[in-house]
Amino acid sequence: FTRLLCYKSDIVIESNYPNVNVPNITINELLWDKFATWPDRPAVVCSETGKTLTYNDFFKKSRKLSGFLQSKLKLKKDDTIALVLPNIADFGVIVLGAVDAGLKVTTINPLYTKDEIKRQLNDCGVKAVFSLNIITDLIKEVIKTINNSISVISVGIQRNEPVSSGIIKFHEITENSTFEFRPVSGNADDVAFLLYSSGTTGLPKGVELTHKNIVSNVLQQSSHEPLDLFNLYERNVVSTSLAFFHSGGLSVALLSWYSGSKLIAAPRINTKTLTDQFETYKPNIGVYTPLIVQMLTKNNNFTPKIAESLKIALSAAAPLGGTDIERFYEKTQNQVRIIQGYGLTEASPATHRVPLDAQKEKIRSVGVLLPNTKSKIIPIDGNDTNGLPVMQTGEILIKGPQVMKGYFKNPKATSEIFTDDGWLKTGDVGYVDEDGYLYITDRIKELIKVKGFQVAPAELEEILRDHPSVEQAAVVGTKHERFGEVPKAFLVLKKDHRISEEDIKEFVANKVVTYKQLEGGVVFLEDLPKSNTGKILRKELKGK
Ligand code: AMP
Repeated sequence: FTRLLCYKSDIVIESNYPNVNVPNITINELLWDKFATWPDRPAVVCSETGKTLTYNDFFKKSRKLSGFLQSKLKLKKDDTIALVLPNIADFGVIVLGAVDAGLKVTTINPLYTKDEIKRQLNDCGVKAVFSLNIITDLIKEVIKTINNSISVISVGIQRNEPVSSGIIKFHEITENSTFEFRPVSGNADDVAFLLYSSGTTGLPKGVELTHKNIVSNVLQQSSHEPLDLFNLYERNVVSTSLAFFHSGGLSVALLSWYSGSKLIAAPRINTKTLTDQFETYKPNIGVYTPLIVQMLTKNNNFTPKIAESLKIALSAAAPLGGTDIERFYEKTQNQVRIIQGYGLTEASPATHRVPLDAQKEKIRSVGVLLPNTKSKIIPIDGNDTNGLPVMQTGEILIKGPQVMKGYFKNPKATSEIFTDDGWLKTGDVGYVDEDGYLYITDRIKELIKVKGFQVAPAELEEILRDHPSVEQAAVVGTKHERFGEVPKAFLVLKKDHRISEEDIKEFVANKVVTYKQLEGGVVFLEDLPKSNTGKILRKELKGK
């Protein structure tokens, strides 16, 4: 049960699990200690190449990279580096090597277009970019338009992939570099990660996650048995469809390494690569987006025999329907325990998880509060920030040590997402039952989630408004059977202009990654619904 604390008319919900003690250390200090206890265990394996790094290899490579970044590239504390990489074996080496050198890490989807990559690189002012060999030329082109002094380091999935000349090769650094690592005076309150999220409104912003935020969230998810997936078994093998560049995937990787597990890094994720993983690596823990859970359920090759090794599946990053959970149980003949978790990038990301001792009737819930975390449900309309009683629906607010410091260089957006007394407004709507289980029923923030990925309407609207025929644009999410939601545009054209839906779709398709495309269609209107202050009323467009 969860504790309800009532302060006059304000109701706050507190985790029922005892607080965990969060030491004032950096994420690499927390992990290196653990790495040293199991140096010869495999830490990560690439599902495409079979390349495996032990915890000792991992640590040594990270240290070599730190020395190189400090001495050769002359990067200084609080400089930022970017990873434009899929899930590969060396992802963690780069992340931990950089933060160990006192740097901040930002992550970018490697499938992004030039425009999308440029926007993020520009916004956070990076000093070096790590990218796959096959996209280094594209990265170079982007960099030319920003700042030619940004270093590009090319990382191969295969060791000997050809690389264009004049580009630093990652494998040469980690094999041959002789630069000594110089310890930096790291502080738990330093920012470790700048992960991009649009939050409740506007364009994607850099979410500043400190070492303390990240260390807290690893410990909050690892310290109490019913919540902890990673310490139930010895030597887990972890399969995930979440991208390491997303807060959810990064968290899975950190939890995996904190528990001495073997993490499968899959550069390409689909049901074929996942079922192949089951045959080859026999994972016992799977962390998936709802789409992957549904796809595995429907896939004929995903049989109870293939899934035999799997003990627990966690679905996160977007809503998963109760019926989908029931179907997954049927498909795996109740052999796999499937639960949901909830969180958001702004909370490092986990805030709720269904405990493993939960009763079956909680199947639709996203879980109970993690330790050290509080929440309140407040009325959606109006200025009342007093918490509502159980079973009443409203916006979910969160407080806890995992909640971000703020948005990078954006005090306005930061102050908008927090209440005056420091609660994070999630923009999600739901209720809590008598046992403290949270149920998500809706989302009031603009954010659209496609296959678990973020799509910011403001970004698409900006692109659409650049079209010579478009006068006004609004984008909202519309339900999609497989992807959860897809973006749909409502446009007002300039006087006497004509353009087809297909042309608009193509215009957008050239500028954004596939999942941001206008799969939900384009609707032409005479005018957009607006409030007295001229704000577009997206709510009125939803469902149109
Ligand atoms: P992100 O910052 O990309 O992790 O996105 C966070 C958002 O994803 C949340 O604010 C929710 O809107 C949505 N989300 C994450 N997990 C769940 C879940 N289990 N059920 C429903 N929505 C979820």
